[in-house]
Amino acid sequence: MEPQPCPFEKIHPSELHRDAGYFMTHAYNEAIEAWKKDEVPIGAVIEHGGRIIAAAHNQSRSTNDPTAHAEILAISQAAHALGDWRLNECTLYVTKEPCPMCSGALVIARIGKVFFGLPDEKMGCLGGATDLGALPRSNHHFESTGGVLEDLNHEILRAFFEKKRALNAAKKSASNDPESFPEEFESP
Ligand SMILES: [Zn+2]
Repeated sequence: MEPQPCPFEKIHPSELHRDAGYFMTHAYNEAIEAWKKDEVPIGAVIEHGGRIIAAAHNQSRSTNDPTAHAEILAISQAAHALGDWRLNECTLYVTKEPCPMCSGALVIARIGKVFFGLPDEKMGCLGGATDLGALPRSNHHFESTGGVLEDLNHEILRAFFEKKRALNAAKKSASNDPESFPEEFESP
């Protein structure tokens, strides 16, 4: 796969203020890495003790694996780094509200807290479509906060899908191929 040009540039936040914006900026930078591999630009990092112990981006297309979402990859990295599958002391930052699979994995991993960028009322399962962090009979609940660097995280996804749509339309008109738009490119 040729590296894809990405019109967005990475942001280097101050190391002095390690707030939600700091960690989300690192997640956003991971989303840019995804774009460069022609993947849907979603990124995630996991913080433990003030330090990033996992950083990942969506890789579903390049690995041909529908489970290779940024959050799932970051959860595996973090558990490996800690030598413990329980992530109670960890906070996950992800650029878009997690899907049903990732939200479920966060419950199973006993994540401490989640911050996400763009809310997703269609597929988001941390308050958008439903909230898996608050299952009434589950013994693990966690808080999640959306809207962190929302505009930035929305813009990169919007631009990516717009580019894909334009390419798809051009391809269709060239070949008269009636193939519909792939589900994975459905705009959030
Ligand atoms: Zn997911």
